[in-house]
Amino acid sequence: MDRRHSPPPDPVFYTSLGTAMRCPFCRVDNDRVIDSRAGDDGASIRRRRECLGCRRRFTTYERAERQFLSVLKKDGEREPFDRVR
Ligand SMILES: [Zn+2]
Repeated sequence: MDRRHSPPPDPVFYTSLGTAMRCPFCRVDNDRVIDSRAGDDGASIRRRRECLGCRRRFTTYERAERQFLSVLKKDGEREPFDRVR
């Protein structure tokens, strides 16, 4: 555990990449992106947002659709990303 700093956790929401995000609190479709970076798994984008309607902050993880996660192997066969080996 990291005790040096513990910012208040933002509520986290998961959406598809490219989906317009409405504020989960007041439903206003008007927010400002504070911070944007790749998610831990590299397949999602994490954005911290601040709603311009109610000023609350929240975090979204935007995921690409699953077909973009498949791996193209050298022999041309497409292999699902989460295939069990
Ligand atoms: Zn709001």
